[in-house]
Amino acid sequence: MKLSEIGNILREIRVVPVKTLGQNFLHDQNLARWMVQEATISASDFVLEIGPGLGALTEPALATGARVLAIEKDGRLADFLRVRFADRRVEIIHGDALEFEVQQLFPNGPVKLLGNLPYYISTQLLLRYFEQASPITLGVLMLQREVAARLSAAPRSKDYGILTLAVQLQCRVEYLRTVPASVFLPQPEVDSAFVRLTPREPNELPDHDRELFFALVRRGFSQRRKQLGKLLREQVADWPQAAREIGASATARAEELSLAQWIALSNFVQPPPSRDAGTDLAEQFAVVDEMDRVTGAMARSEVHGNNLRHRAVHIFLFNPAGELLLQKRSRWKDRHPNVWDSSAAGHVGAGEEYDETARRELREELGVTTNLTRVTQLPASEKTGQEFIWLYRGEHPGPFLPARSEIDAIQFFAPDMITRWIDERAGDFAPGFLECWQAYRHHPG
Ligand code: SAM
Repeated sequence: MKLSEIGNILREIRVVPVKTLGQNFLHDQNLARWMVQEATISASDFVLEIGPGLGALTEPALATGARVLAIEKDGRLADFLRVRFADRRVEIIHGDALEFEVQQLFPNGPVKLLGNLPYYISTQLLLRYFEQASPITLGVLMLQREVAARLSAAPRSKDYGILTLAVQLQCRVEYLRTVPASVFLPQPEVDSAFVRLTPREPNELPDHDRELFFALVRRGFSQRRKQLGKLLREQVADWPQAAREIGASATARAEELSLAQWIALSNFVQPPPSRDAGTDLAEQFAVVDEMDRVTGAMARSEVHGNNLRHRAVHIFLFNPAGELLLQKRSRWKDRHPNVWDSSAAGHVGAGEEYDETARRELREELGVTTNLTRVTQLPASEKTGQEFIWLYRGEHPGPFLPARSEIDAIQFFAPDMITRWIDERAGDFAPGFLECWQAYRHHPG
C-alpha cells in the first residue's frame, strides 16, 4: 500500500492513528512482500497475522494463496479489512491478540505467525504464544529494534537477559534486518527490525525442569554485576563444582552463561528423570481371553510382540468449564510418540483391577487424585491394539504434576474443538484416544 493510499484511506474511514495501539502503517510494499517471502508462505499455509491494520502484510500473504486469520484490536480497521478482503481466504477477528488462545488453531495444522507488532504487546505476546504446546511452526515479525536485539542477543552482551533466554528456550531467533522509521505512516520514534522465530524441535534441547530453570535465571539476572556463586548460594550449594561441570568460570556473572549452560546448571541442581519413558519391558501385564477373563500374566514385550489381548484404562479429566485435559505423549515413548492422548492412560498390571489401575495412572502421570466414574468399556480389537479398555471420567481443575518422562505437554481443550481437530487431523492423536473419544460421545456418562 502506497503512502498516498494510506493517507486517503485513513481520511475516508475517519481514522486518526492511535499511538497507544502502536498504529504505524507500513507503506513500503517491497518490504511487505519480502517479509512474506522470508516466512516462505505458500498456498498450503495457514497464517496468523497480528495487528493487520490496513492490510499491508495481509495482501501479499493472501496473494500466495494462503489462508489468513488476522486479529485486529481496532474495530474500525477490522470493519475496513472485512470489506477490503471480502471474498478472499481471510477471517478478521476484532479482538485483542493477547487474549487469543493459539491452541485453538491446532485443527488447522501448522501455523505461521506474521505481524508488524504493536510494540507495547510484543514481548508479552511472544512469551504467551510460544510458551505452551503451540501449533506455530514459524514466525516472521517486525519489532522495535531494541526488542529484536534482546531476543536475538548472544551471551556477554548488554541485550542478553531473561527475555532472551525465555524466548530462545522456545525458539531459535534470527535478526534479519533493521528497518528505518521512515517506512511507516506516521513515523514511530524508533527504528524497527525483522526477526525470524523457529520453534525448537521437541528433542533439540536437553530435558530440564522449566520452573527451576527460570528460578535460577531470574535470580541470576536480579543483579547483573554480581557473581553467580554469591547470588545463587541458596539454590546451588556447591557452585565451584557446578561451574566446572557446566564449563563456566567460577567468577561468572549471569550474562556469561549460554542457554545450554543455564540448562546444564538447572540439571546440575536437579537431574532430569531418565529417558526410558517409564517403559519397563519386563513389566507384567494381565493377559485375558475374548471375554476379558484373566488367563495369566506376561511381560509387556511379549504381550505387545504377540498381539495378545490385555487390559487398559483411559481417563478423561474435565475442568469446571467442561474442557477435557489432553496430554501430548513424550517423544521418548516406544509407542505413539509425540501425539495427543487421553488425560491419563495405562495398562492393567498382573494382579491389578481396572479401578486400581485408573487411580494409580492418574497419580503417576498427573500427580493428582479425584473421584473417577466408569463411562463405558471398549472391546479388544485391532483398533485398540487388542486392549479391553475401561474409560473413566473425573473432574479436576489442576494444577497437575505431569510425569516429565512420559508427557511433553498437557492442555485443556473444549470438546467441540477436539471433534473438529480430529475431523481435520486424526493423525495428531493416539489411536486408543480416538476410539475412546468416539465411545465417549455416545456415552458421555
Ligand atoms: N500490519 C499493519 C502494517 O504493517 O501496516 C499495521 C501494523 S501497526 C504497527 C499495529 C496494528 O496492531 C494496528 O493496526 C493496531 O490497531 C493493532 N493492535 C494494537 N494492539 C493490538 C492488540 N492487542 N491485538 C491486536 N491488534 C492490535
